[in-house]
Amino acid sequence: MKKLPLKWKLTILYTAFMTILTVLMLGVLLSLSSSEILSSVEKEMEERVFGVSEEIEWKGERLRLDSDFYEVKNGIYLSAYDEEGDLIGGRIPYEFTQDVPLEEGVHKLSFQGIQWEIRDAVFEIPGYGKVYVRGIISITDAEGSLQITVRLSLILFPLMVALAAVLGYFFVRRAFRPVSQITATAREIYEKGDLSKRIGLTGEKNEIYVMAETFDLMLDKLEVSFEKEKRFTSDASHELRTPVAVILSQCEYLLEDRELSGEERSAVEAIQRKAGNMSKMIAQLLFLSRADQSRQAVHKELLDLSLITEMAVEEQADMAQAKGIRIETDIQEGIEGYVDETLFIRLWMNLIGNGISYGREQGWLKVTLKETDGRLQGCVEDNGIGISKEQLPHIWERFYQADASRSGKENAGSGLGLPMVKWIVQAHGGDISVESAVGKGSRFCFSIPLRQM
Ligand code: ADP
Repeated sequence: MKKLPLKWKLTILYTAFMTILTVLMLGVLLSLSSSEILSSVEKEMEERVFGVSEEIEWKGERLRLDSDFYEVKNGIYLSAYDEEGDLIGGRIPYEFTQDVPLEEGVHKLSFQGIQWEIRDAVFEIPGYGKVYVRGIISITDAEGSLQITVRLSLILFPLMVALAAVLGYFFVRRAFRPVSQITATAREIYEKGDLSKRIGLTGEKNEIYVMAETFDLMLDKLEVSFEKEKRFTSDASHELRTPVAVILSQCEYLLEDRELSGEERSAVEAIQRKAGNMSKMIAQLLFLSRADQSRQAVHKELLDLSLITEMAVEEQADMAQAKGIRIETDIQEGIEGYVDETLFIRLWMNLIGNGISYGREQGWLKVTLKETDGRLQGCVEDNGIGISKEQLPHIWERFYQADASRSGKENAGSGLGLPMVKWIVQAHGGDISVESAVGKGSRFCFSIPLRQM
């Protein structure tokens, strides 16, 4: 019962309740009708026995019995006996074979599967003496119609239970339809992260409707506050762009001054480096907030991806050389596919850049690219510091930096590169994965469909 869906549980409860109710009602009705039949039989027999007794007359040499003694009305047989118990006249049912002594009052007895009720009464007939009048009725026959009803009920009962179960399930399912709608909407919001979805329940304004309406109101509020937050990030990044650009250009201007002392020069260079980091971070923030607001454009065009990859590797060669890292490439030639050029370059720059930043000095970096089954498979592998198992699932989160102090990264990172990489891969309908071991190195591999426009 525990694992059954609520719909089934309610249906079973409802059916059980209906069954018990029907059984109780039938039981009460049948026992009431049975006692009603018995009491009416008794009453009628009493009336008939006493009624016919008034019609018995002594005609001098014989007793005259009324014709009622020979008529069977409503199953009641009447007969008359003298004081010795000898039959004077009247009728006895054919099945009433037992010799029952005469005794004033009502008696019940049963034999050969039939229940009988007997009413004996004694009357004084003027001029003759005592006469016994006996009324006999078969209770089994009198209750015959009731028996039919019982049998019919037994046949109809399972059908009624089945009908109650079917109707019960139908009503419960109907009542649960709005709940299914609420669940489906909540799941959609969870899976797609689309806060603009609403339940939008229509129909009867019952408690579930009010609950759904309240949910929708809550979603309205959540959407507004999320939008505000997204806008805040993008507004703040926009505002910061200009001052950082000014700092960078001023640094450049200062560094052009040949009369700067060594100390001053290194101070300005430090400012320039930090401002450069900030500018990169602002660009990444703007990118991600545009992506969140679905404003980040993806212009796919048919490109030579092998060539772009080689160019991206070339671009990072100086940085690798500075760390004594040897870049090995295994790039299949002439792979063409539909991608956004700027985004594709960004993807490589981030992965290769990380490989160098977190790579081992005098180590190596492998960049591979190949096409398999219409998909582009790209990998960047290094033999650097690696990432621990605990940190691995978090590296795709925004601002997450796995122990930055270990990296010895010249330009402090922001923790926004990999989230951006993931977004780019997903925007191309692909997926990305990572394998890593601390002290051994990391391997980032992505796969994107090539022919998807
Ligand atoms: P960051 O700007 O800090 O490099 P990323 O989002 O690119 O931000 O990376 C997040 C974190 O993942 C990094 O701080 C680093 O700890 C870890 N990481 C990324 N690439 C590598 C790699 N090739 N080797 C080891 N650690 C890596």
